[in-house]
Amino acid sequence: MSAGPGNWISSSLTRETILKMGLRVSLIVTAVALLSYWHISVTLEEQTYDSLQNYITERGQKESNIFLLAEDNHKVFRNAFLEAWLKAVKQPSAERFEQLFFEPGDGTWRLRPALFRGVYRPDGTKSSNITGYVGKGVEVDPAMRSRLLLAYDMIDRYAEGWTHRFPTLYVTMPENAILIHWPYLPWGLEADANLDINNEEWGYISDPRHNPSREAAWTGLFYDVPAEHWMVSLKTPVEIDGEVLLDIGHDILLNDVFERVVNDHLKGAYNFIFRTDGRLIAHPEFFSNQALVEEAVAGRAFQISDLHDNSLINAARLITSAEGTFEGVVLDDKQGDALLAVSRIQGPDWYFVTVYPKQLISSTALEAAYFIFLLGFFSIIIEVLMLYLVLNNQVIKPLEYFVNVAKKITQGDFDLRMGHRKDDYSQRPNEVGVLTRSLSEMAETIHTNDERLEREVEQRTQALNETNQALLGEIAVRRQLEEKLREQINIDSLTGVYGRSYFLQLGNLEFKRSQREGNSLFAVMIDIDLFKNINDTYGHSAGDAVLKRFALVCQECLREIDIFGRLGGEEFALVVAGVDEPEAYEICDRIRASLEKTEVVTEEGVIKLTASFGCAALEEGDEGLDAILSRADKALYEAKEKGRNQVVMRVIS
Ligand code: GH3
Ligand code: MG
Ligand code: MG
Repeated sequence: MSAGPGNWISSSLTRETILKMGLRVSLIVTAVALLSYWHISVTLEEQTYDSLQNYITERGQKESNIFLLAEDNHKVFRNAFLEAWLKAVKQPSAERFEQLFFEPGDGTWRLRPALFRGVYRPDGTKSSNITGYVGKGVEVDPAMRSRLLLAYDMIDRYAEGWTHRFPTLYVTMPENAILIHWPYLPWGLEADANLDINNEEWGYISDPRHNPSREAAWTGLFYDVPAEHWMVSLKTPVEIDGEVLLDIGHDILLNDVFERVVNDHLKGAYNFIFRTDGRLIAHPEFFSNQALVEEAVAGRAFQISDLHDNSLINAARLITSAEGTFEGVVLDDKQGDALLAVSRIQGPDWYFVTVYPKQLISSTALEAAYFIFLLGFFSIIIEVLMLYLVLNNQVIKPLEYFVNVAKKITQGDFDLRMGHRKDDYSQRPNEVGVLTRSLSEMAETIHTNDERLEREVEQRTQALNETNQALLGEIAVRRQLEEKLREQINIDSLTGVYGRSYFLQLGNLEFKRSQREGNSLFAVMIDIDLFKNINDTYGHSAGDAVLKRFALVCQECLREIDIFGRLGGEEFALVVAGVDEPEAYEICDRIRASLEKTEVVTEEGVIKLTASFGCAALEEGDEGLDAILSRADKALYEAKEKGRNQVVMRVIS
């Protein structure tokens, strides 16, 4: 194993651990991301509910302001008018009336143009922008005059103060009359002589037939061509004891409202306004469609269904069927997968709706979960790196060290220090430290045992060697002795015939057998004649050669069963069994004759030789071979005496 920093991945322990760990942490990170997604979704939905509710409540109030203000203005106007009406002179002078009204000759009455252009009031301030129109054929009786004059006074009193929020303040009368303050627009002067205001929505909306409740009433949406404005009108009836005196009117410009509907929306959401009866008031798609706008300008009242948007239709249905006051409420439009924040615009009774797609929530949650996942992913990388460092330092390197130590111990090297290693594992306060210390102790123990064993083996080997050496010496001595003995005992080293003792041994055996079986036995003593002379003449080694040749010639003349040996010097002996006397003599003489003929060739010259024989037979009373040999020796002596080179038999007489 070699898990250095370069090839750490090849270490299966590191790789396995890191892979497993990485996999587990990845699973956890994924689970955490999913959980976060779920949690954030739920929390966000709740938060979105709350903030949508706050938003729509505020928005509803904001958008209602202008309409509520219009209603307030009307209340002020009505109260002031009624109060003045009770005190007013019901028979006003024709003079005052004609100061204000004139007959242009088309059958109508109209306010004088000066009142539009501007006249000075008694207090020196200037009044302007008021026009008036009384339709053809309307009988202007004193009571009506009185109403017209009072209405004029009221408009003159309030209109200027209200024009910064409302383009018009006007008064209509069911008889087909209108007084109107409209800056820069001489409406009453320009109105067609055939105009009947009771044919216009803003005219009839508050008459008892169309407005039996006698409350303030709102017209639908309309486009005012001269003003180039989307508008609605508020009409508030003013009556006394069931008698309709007049209706107060305010036009409300909606361009700003519509602009806000389209542009002022929550990110990703959109707004629209519709009326309880399904009439569409404002919708971004509507305003972006020029053809629809033109139709609406021409006077067509659009319904929600005209946009052919099913989700819009469903949303409207959901809102109109829901119960509650709609000060600000959030509905869950499951079909449209959206939250509908709804607030009623007070006054015209419109629903201001913010459609908030739920996808926004899930995409935010998804973004957060994705971020968490990324964060997790990076932390996995850091974790894996740190794990690698820790593993390498705490496990792999110590393991490497242990493996190397084990190898060293196997090879008999008990020095556990490893080169230039900075870290001493034995000092670590953990399992690595314990293992290192145990390993060190183990190595020491093995080392000590090893050394002791070695010493013992050495000692024993030495002892064994010594014993061995001694044994070998002994064996050598014995061999030498054995050799000596064998030579001494058995064979004569010069001639190769039996030596003295072995000859006597064999001869005695033969003696005993012959004695036992009662057979004949002859012993012969043989001595080379004048051998001394040979030695003297030719030298000792020539004498040796003669001795060798002598023994050879004797053996050639003998049978295998005959016993022949050297008794010493140039004296030999022979034991012959199983022959009679003549035969014994014959044997001896045959040898004598062979010797006589023998010539021994040496470097000193050719040597001739003869020998004398003394032969004796086994006799009763002999106790051993020696007895026979002794007699044979006497016979030999005789032969020498008789002149040598002869055989003397010594037999029982
Ligand atoms: P004879 O027996 O005929 O009376 O005379 P001789 O000369 O043989 O007498 P003697 O027995 O006295 O001499 C024997 C000699 O043999 C003496 C000795 O020097 C010699 N001799 C004995 N053993 C050996 C031997 O092994 N080698 C040699 N070369 N000479 C030997
Ligand atoms: Mg002799
Ligand atoms: Mg001799």
